[in-house]
Amino acid sequence: MGAARRVPVLRGVLAALALVGSGLVQSADYSGPLFDAHLHYNDEACVHAPAPSAACPHPLPDVLQRMRESGVRGVLANSRPNDGTRALAAAREQAAAAGVTVVPFVRLYRNRADYNNWFRDPSIVELVRSELERGTAAGPYRGLGEFHLYDSANARGPVAQQLMALAEEKDLVVLAHVDEAAIDLLMQATPSRGQRLQLIWAHTGIGGTSPAEVEALLQRYPGLMGELSYRPGLTCEGGQLCPAWRDLMLRHPDRFLAGSDTWVNARWQSYGRLMQDYRVWLGGLPPDVARRIAWGNAARLFNLPDPAALPSAPR
Ligand SMILES: [Zn+2]
Repeated sequence: MGAARRVPVLRGVLAALALVGSGLVQSADYSGPLFDAHLHYNDEACVHAPAPSAACPHPLPDVLQRMRESGVRGVLANSRPNDGTRALAAAREQAAAAGVTVVPFVRLYRNRADYNNWFRDPSIVELVRSELERGTAAGPYRGLGEFHLYDSANARGPVAQQLMALAEEKDLVVLAHVDEAAIDLLMQATPSRGQRLQLIWAHTGIGGTSPAEVEALLQRYPGLMGELSYRPGLTCEGGQLCPAWRDLMLRHPDRFLAGSDTWVNARWQSYGRLMQDYRVWLGGLPPDVARRIAWGNAARLFNLPDPAALPSAPR
């Protein structure tokens, strides 16, 4: 190739570099499998309705279709009451057809009143024990939660302390919607003082815990992972990660998970968009980091099958 021809090529390269430098180059969205690490299938979604209706918007075929269309290949299911999770786990053929693996968790809530009361109600420990014994059609329960602690001091109560010790003893993963102080208290409640417990921190500090404080906790507790729904300050321009969060994920790629938090039906209605929002910022990360946060970290935690090896592989 002569020198005259090389000049336009060089100009093209320089122009592309300038675009990268200015941040104007759009990265492609992440297109691999997703694991939804924070899914509720609560009673108002109408778990057992035969077909969707205004009163019963999200029976089983509806939610499985939403997962399939979003490329969600596995879910951490926890529901109020636990019937929703058992129903998802029992729908083995339908879930397999949608390409979805169900990882069941025992929720501590029978009803709304339990949200504010579970930590002072010893019958919740019995509920958990009997539910664990019962198991699900998709196999044993793999964890406890989601539970809330609006006042972190309640992590010191006997119910929370017993459940944390039980989780560590039985290798159950915990899903907790709490503040940073309660992470310390819950971790310290285990026999290993938090060195063995696997705890998924729902929302990773919904009150705005700083990335530096999140990192300090990740360093203190090797089994702590952050789930990112509703996390304030996570994304910036163009739906990409804000710089501090991007840096944190690059330093700790094995410690984060994506979740929907379908706590009300409106979240089911926007399920596709929620998952697409994840795909946008995951696409801005190096591909191996994106794959770990989207799927690999959950696959390691729950020993999930490789989605490419499952019969239905929409993504
Ligand atoms: Zn939730």
